[in-house]
Amino acid sequence: MKKKYAMVIDTKVCVGCGACVVACKTENEVPEGLHRDWIVEEITGSYPHLFMEVRSERCNHCSDAPCVSACPTGASHYREDTENLVLVTPGKCTGCKACMAACPYDARFTMPEGYASKCTFCEHRLDQGLDPACMSVCPAHAIFFGDLNNPESTVSLLLKKRQYRVLMPEVGTEPNIYYLT
Ligand code: SF4
Ligand code: SF4
Repeated sequence: MKKKYAMVIDTKVCVGCGACVVACKTENEVPEGLHRDWIVEEITGSYPHLFMEVRSERCNHCSDAPCVSACPTGASHYREDTENLVLVTPGKCTGCKACMAACPYDARFTMPEGYASKCTFCEHRLDQGLDPACMSVCPAHAIFFGDLNNPESTVSLLLKKRQYRVLMPEVGTEPNIYYLT
């Protein structure tokens, strides 16, 4: 069975320190001024009943990814052994930015060389049996990663026992970053 990779992020313990952002930049040699992941601080409610959520965001590796269907060259694609790991083949990318326009999460950017880029769940690390870099450095242990097609995986078990939400479910992309609330 193909893997369905997911990240589960616990907003109850994330402190917004940004270690995940720094680790990603270093691991993936992301150029200055560009980011594959980022921190969002969202305040909801009205005074005096305000609530602040801090969360680490990145590409949602959507199961129905508009960036993949918008790409005219096949550069944006699903990794073969997975249902949802969205990757870009630089050599096939013309830099047309159709994927960037299609992504509702603003998760992509253009590299100085002209090709589209974004989070890969550190697939090079996964191939070595390692966790994504962001997860491995998080001092609060707020980030979990694994295969939702394995009912015994940590991510599957967390989603069974905790309440969660995904970002912009209404756009129908079936995102695979889950935020524990
Ligand atoms: S978050 Fe954006 S870039 Fe990532 S898979 Fe979904 S549509 Fe594509
Ligand atoms: S910028 Fe590259 S990856 Fe994006 S749609 Fe165009 S060719 Fe495909």
